[in-house]
Amino acid sequence: MSKQILIIEDEKDIIELLEFNLSKNGFLVSSAQTGEEGLRLARKNSPDLILLDLMLPVINGLDICKLLKSDQKTGHIPIVMLTAKDEDIDVVTGLEVGADDYITKPFSPKVLIARLRTILRRQSLQGEEKKQLIKVGPIIIDPGKYTVVLENKNLQLTATEFQLLYTLAKRPGWVYSRSQLVDKIRGEDHIISDRAVDVQIANLRKKLGEYGDCIETVRGAGYKFKESD
Ligand code: CA
Repeated sequence: MSKQILIIEDEKDIIELLEFNLSKNGFLVSSAQTGEEGLRLARKNSPDLILLDLMLPVINGLDICKLLKSDQKTGHIPIVMLTAKDEDIDVVTGLEVGADDYITKPFSPKVLIARLRTILRRQSLQGEEKKQLIKVGPIIIDPGKYTVVLENKNLQLTATEFQLLYTLAKRPGWVYSRSQLVDKIRGEDHIISDRAVDVQIANLRKKLGEYGDCIETVRGAGYKFKESD
């Protein structure tokens, strides 16, 4: 079945470039030129993935990202940010507010499509595989439903945070290097910085609140999920 991509971007040329390349590659595409319209379409159509420009008039991309991620209807949809070269700091902020990945403008449509396919494949693998519930302390992870319950409360995690938690919690005590985690969350066909992994782990710990320390930093090596006593 064709995957549906929503583009939120105010530059008409870029929308056209994306629409052309994405539909040529079998995606269904819808687009919005303002954040407000993007929010509306995201809620209405529940797309499989959102391409979100960082620099939008009125409400900027970061705020749109926050709104999408905190909305129950749209929080699970992966978001890939489109950024300009000099917006490095915003990239980190974007990951902090829940974006799953980013692509720098100008981009090669081929690279962009490969990147989107990786993210979508990861999503659908997770959907298809019937995986068992993981219970660690007060945390219950349901990989089938894509939910994490902590002390009877549903946690709102991004797709990337979920994948990180799931990977680590599946094997408590095992140490994963940052690059192994990058592979787990992104597939192997593109590079993302270790710093981005650290940012995602920091977000995850924050959301886990007092249980945040169940994800331990292993100095010089990476991260592991705390073994229960
Ligand atoms: Ca723009």
